[in-house]
Amino acid sequence: MKCKIFSSEAQKNGFCTLHLQAYQNVIEKFDVWREASAILWIDYLVEIQKNSLTGEWAKDVVKHRFKGENGNVK
Ligand SMILES: [Zn+2]
Repeated sequence: MKCKIFSSEAQKNGFCTLHLQAYQNVIEKFDVWREASAILWIDYLVEIQKNSLTGEWAKDVVKHRFKGENGNVK
């Protein structure tokens, strides 16, 4: 199973199924966090990177997908 994160051989969405699932979880969780604390997207990304409860799959996605972005892309 290969995807952008571990290989240049990207699939349709750029992520393998497991990473895509992790990515969707990150997006969904952001909505919950935002309702609770009005957190900014970029701050949220920083927080989940620091959070030891965040799965490794999700961390991979965040590191890869949002590297170098300004935080205004969801
Ligand atoms: Zn993957």
